[in-house]
Amino acid sequence: MKLRHKIHLYSSVLFALLFIATNVLVYFVFSTLTIREQQNRIESQTSKTADNIRLSSADTQAADLLRAYVPLEGMIRIVTEQGSNSLLVTSSGEQELSKRAVSYNESRVSEVLKIGSHRYVFVSVPVIWSDGRVVDIQVTESLRQTEEYLNVLEWALLIVTSLAMIPVFLSGQVLGRIVIRPITALTSTMKDIRRNGKFKRIELPERSRDELYEMGENFNRMIDLLENNYDKQKQFVSNASHELRTPLTIIESYASLLKRRGLDRPDLFVESVEAIHSEAVRMKEMTEQLLLLARHEEQWNMTLEPVHLRQQAEQLAREFQQAYHRQLEIEIDEPLRSDEALLVIQTDAGKLRQLLFILLDNARKYSSDGITLTLSLDQTDTSSQVERASVSTTTAQRNRCIRITDRGIGIPEKELPKVFDRFYRVDQARVRQDTGGSGLGLTLAQRIAEVLGGSVRLESVENEGTTAIVTLPATAEHLALFSANSN
Ligand code: ADP
Repeated sequence: MKLRHKIHLYSSVLFALLFIATNVLVYFVFSTLTIREQQNRIESQTSKTADNIRLSSADTQAADLLRAYVPLEGMIRIVTEQGSNSLLVTSSGEQELSKRAVSYNESRVSEVLKIGSHRYVFVSVPVIWSDGRVVDIQVTESLRQTEEYLNVLEWALLIVTSLAMIPVFLSGQVLGRIVIRPITALTSTMKDIRRNGKFKRIELPERSRDELYEMGENFNRMIDLLENNYDKQKQFVSNASHELRTPLTIIESYASLLKRRGLDRPDLFVESVEAIHSEAVRMKEMTEQLLLLARHEEQWNMTLEPVHLRQQAEQLAREFQQAYHRQLEIEIDEPLRSDEALLVIQTDAGKLRQLLFILLDNARKYSSDGITLTLSLDQTDTSSQVERASVSTTTAQRNRCIRITDRGIGIPEKELPKVFDRFYRVDQARVRQDTGGSGLGLTLAQRIAEVLGGSVRLESVENEGTTAIVTLPATAEHLALFSANSN
């Protein structure tokens, strides 16, 4: 059965049952109260009649009184201890009652009887007769009038219930449609996506912002995300194959040159081997970087240890000078300068070196003057600022900041947000030829900083220079996820 029909059926049946149950209850309570009230009235009337009859001394007087007290629809009689009628009067419409069997009751009786198809109230009151005998004054009164009222009520409730079923039935159908419409739209959009292989969103009516609207909105957001990821992946695959095709083409062309003329032209041989070697190195670096970027958190295998930031920076400066003959100046801000202990943080030394090397390499490639590395406490650490107000955060717990500043070509403002994207290079053609970069350096730097529990960002002014800012936590608490063998 379709969901729409199920909703329709269940809601209609439920409402109908509720309605019927309510009406049955109303009828039951009303009829019980009305009959109880009639019974009470007849009981008290019979008591009064019994008192009046007891006070009359002669039978003839009593017979007159009985005639006066006989109910409009019923019978009144006096029953002796031997179980015989001594006196009996019936109303004109209830002659049949006189044929009922006579029974003597020693105590007071009050009950509702069904005689034929109608209900009657029967009340029996024992009294002491003028001659000293005990007799029953018995009144039997018809409830036909009350039954007629109840009959009218029965019909009224039946008609109201039947009429109420119409809106209940219609609203069940409307409810089913309202609930189903967005689900149907969702299903057909999904089918479309599967059939055409194209991302599609569902149209959302602005009328109500209910749960179904929210479901549609979330579906559209999910499609946005999938499309975005799909586009990025497509871009990545095409960039990666493009990036690998260039060195492969160079290698292929030099290899063909060597094949043809390598033996008789030694100068060509040296040039070709050097080009092939450098392109092979570049390809190797690129694939290594790609593999690192594809790694999952748990595969980073962190080794946490106390790292002295100044010593680490000094070693990098020596290696840098050795490899590129470029000067790296180290500056240390207060309070790190006066408190040696603040320079030691808990992190992975190897990964930190790799991260700083990528940033230093960029500073070297895109500038020709001196480069500065500055160590300080993180000033933008808002969480620490908040916590600093409370006594719990000490200076030692605040994030550390490493800035690498160059005075080179800088990055245009509109390019800044994109430089962390994979394979993105500012001024693509010129940069690759000059520097041999792959556009993966900053992406990898960002990933490493993330793995170390910190972050990296760039500040740059075109033609003035660039500052890469690395923020790292001082303690290793945030690194538990990545740490395979921390101790
Ligand atoms: P690449 O391997 O090309 O250097 P990166 O991901 O490291 O790739 O950098 C992306 C781009 O950002 C570079 O191509 C360059 O245009 C720009 N860039 C990065 N660092 C600097 C810097 N210090 N100065 C100027 N431009 C930079």
